[in-house]
Parts: sequence; C-alpha cells; structure tokens
Amino acid sequence: MSSRPVLCPTCDTYVRRRALPRGMRAFCPRCHSRIYDNPYCDTGGLMALTLAALVLYFPANLLPILEIDLVGNLRQTTVLYGALVVMEQGFVLVGLAVLVAGVIAPLLLLLSILTQLTLMRMGTGRPIVRWLLLHQPTLDQLSMIEIYMISFFVSVFKLVDIADLTYGWGTLCYILLFVLTFYVQYEYNRELMWHQYEEIYGS
Ligand SMILES: [Zn+2]
Repeated sequence: MSSRPVLCPTCDTYVRRRALPRGMRAFCPRCHSRIYDNPYCDTGGLMALTLAALVLYFPANLLPILEIDLVGNLRQTTVLYGALVVMEQGFVLVGLAVLVAGVIAPLLLLLSILTQLTLMRMGTGRPIVRWLLLHQPTLDQLSMIEIYMISFFVSVFKLVDIADLTYGWGTLCYILLFVLTFYVQYEYNRELMWHQYEEIYGS
C-alpha cells in the first residue's frame, strides 16, 4: 500500500502513495486538493463511535425532539411522527423520503459499519463484508440526518416567538446522534476498509 500510485481526483496528477502518520493528509502537488488521508481513529475507535451512535439512535428517534405548547395546545414531535403526518396529509412520497433519509438509512448505515468491523475482526463472513462494502456509498448518500437538524433549527426560530418550546432528552440525544453519525462517516474510510478486507481475507 505504501508505494501504490494514486491519481489526483481533481487534476489526474500521478502521485506515489506513501504511508501517512495518523491524522495527516496528502495534498496534490499541482492543484493542492486533498488526495488521501489517514483517519484519526483506528478500527477500535470507529467501532466505539458506531456503538455509541447506535445506543443514542433509539432515544433520539423514540423520545420527542420538541414539545410545542401553542396557546394550551400541546404537541410532541419525533422524526417518525413528522413523516407519518406528512403522509397523512397526502404527500406520501415526501413522507417516505423523510422516513428513509431520517430514520431507516441512518440506522442501516450504522448497523452496516458495525457488522463490517465485527466480521473483519473475527475474520469471518467474507461475502457479507464484501456486499456491505460495495453498498456503503448508497447508504452514505441516503442517510441525511443533517437535513433534519437544519429543519429543526428553522422550526425553532420560527416558533420561538409564538409558542412555548420545551426541549427534552430526545433533543439532546438527537443532537448527539447527529454529531456522532457525522464523525463516524468522517472517520470511515472505504478505501482503507477495502485494504483491510484484502489483508484479512486475501484478494
Ligand atoms: Zn491535483
């Protein structure tokens, strides 16, 4: 791996790949764009992050993110409930998109990474790991927790003058889930995972 050639994704300059110290990045000598980096976390750290995100996933999705008191009319909201309300109002496709991007895909993404790390650590399940590695980019694109964080802030700013808003454990768990999932996706390096796959199972 240390001498494998790589092409700059921006300008196609040929660069000889070298082993990097942890947390360092390699930049293209011609256009200075990022070519490859070494994650801060090893697989143990990534596994801990993924497990922590999975633990937070359930309270974040089951507990209300926001409690809205609009002149005595009390409402609690979760992402799942939001998706169902949108579907009830006739926007089935929008509701399904919310359900997939905000609830289902993030869970599958975390479960997929945890399964890959666990099976690779045990040295078994080669076809499953291969399948998961091949489909990881799809899950990465489908999972969009950040959109709900933005819509959460937008609704808070819009409602704060006209309603009493209460935040609870659900709010805290959702924000922490967002941060951890972002960190997991940042630290997860598919190229390095393929490299480990080849080392563990043979190519
Ligand atoms: Zn370049």
